[in-house]
Amino acid sequence: MSTIAIQNVSKRFGDKLALDGVSLDVKSGEMIALLGSSGCGKTTLLRAIAGLTPPNDGRILFDDRDVTHLPTRRRPIGMVFQGYSLFPNMTVRQNIAFPLKVRGQDARAIGRRVDELLALIGLAAHADHHPNQLSGGQQQRTALARALAPDPAVLLLDEPLSALDAVVRLHLRDEIRRIQQAIRTTALLVTHDQSEALAVADRVVVMRAGRIEQVAAPNVLYDKPTSGFSAGFIGQRNALDLPVLDGRVRLCGTSVPAPAVDTARALVFLRPEDVHRMDAGAGRRARVEARIFEGRTTRFYLKVEDEEGALDLKADWPSRDVEGLATGDTVHVGIDPRDVHVFPAATRATP
Ligand code: ATP
Repeated sequence: MSTIAIQNVSKRFGDKLALDGVSLDVKSGEMIALLGSSGCGKTTLLRAIAGLTPPNDGRILFDDRDVTHLPTRRRPIGMVFQGYSLFPNMTVRQNIAFPLKVRGQDARAIGRRVDELLALIGLAAHADHHPNQLSGGQQQRTALARALAPDPAVLLLDEPLSALDAVVRLHLRDEIRRIQQAIRTTALLVTHDQSEALAVADRVVVMRAGRIEQVAAPNVLYDKPTSGFSAGFIGQRNALDLPVLDGRVRLCGTSVPAPAVDTARALVFLRPEDVHRMDAGAGRRARVEARIFEGRTTRFYLKVEDEEGALDLKADWPSRDVEGLATGDTVHVGIDPRDVHVFPAATRATP
């Protein structure tokens, strides 16, 4: 494992600034998720770390060693891509052994290392199968073992789960985290799936248009997004456009300060689990417009009778508490002002 220092890295493709002065320090043994929508630069950043896309400006250091212009093959990295990229004519064992053979390691040492990795990824019983005899998840686990075989200081994962179906994806997501924690290698994972980023990473880097928007631990990002962009990107929130009056926004019978907002309207975020049911008479009246069973919780689409007029809110409540609640029913809802995140609206107030 190794620390990674990314210092003021920029990358241009013609007129397009794919990375715009990105700086990030990754701790040794840390798992970082690079999260952002398509085209924000996350793959370019990963490729710059891998040596596949040299930056125009800035430096990249592994453990204080400048690797900015070091060829990929001389970097202590392992990579896993979205496509499985296994050698189809080789067995699982031969695929995993390949990078060790290329390095000219002794056959007995290779055998021991491959057995160790087969046990780690749970594929010992499939060691002599070819890739076409494996499921997508098994192929991706083999690709992971192959990347880990030379014991790289840095593991780079570029959307490794996106070609898998939902169930396998969840399982392998947890497996990647377990394996990374077991071997404690420094790792960066590129994803556009926020739940994947929150689940696997020690810290999540939210990227937007070639820049870093926020870097934070998953729970901090979820609870305290520092910008409207991060708040909108993380979690299925209520996103409301509300007027600002005397420096406050009013919502669901309470009012929330809007300190950094100098616009006439504010972008207000509230998580569905933070909309609470109240006793009749308390909070605001709301009509149930629709309900969607989601397992442990049920999502309710509510029309709230708020002081500014009718307000559409999503609420998530434990399914076992809401069995009798149907479309058309009236409920009372309230919120805690501390759960409300207020950001400036995109349009500024005209003087
Ligand atoms: P995605 O999730 O779609 O892969 P991303 O966040 O990984 O998106 P990048 O692949 O890093 O985004 O691309 C960032 C920007 O740079 C995009 O506008 C992309 O079109 C552009 N870009 C990336 N690679 C090249 C290239 N080789 N030539 C020209 N433009 C490129």
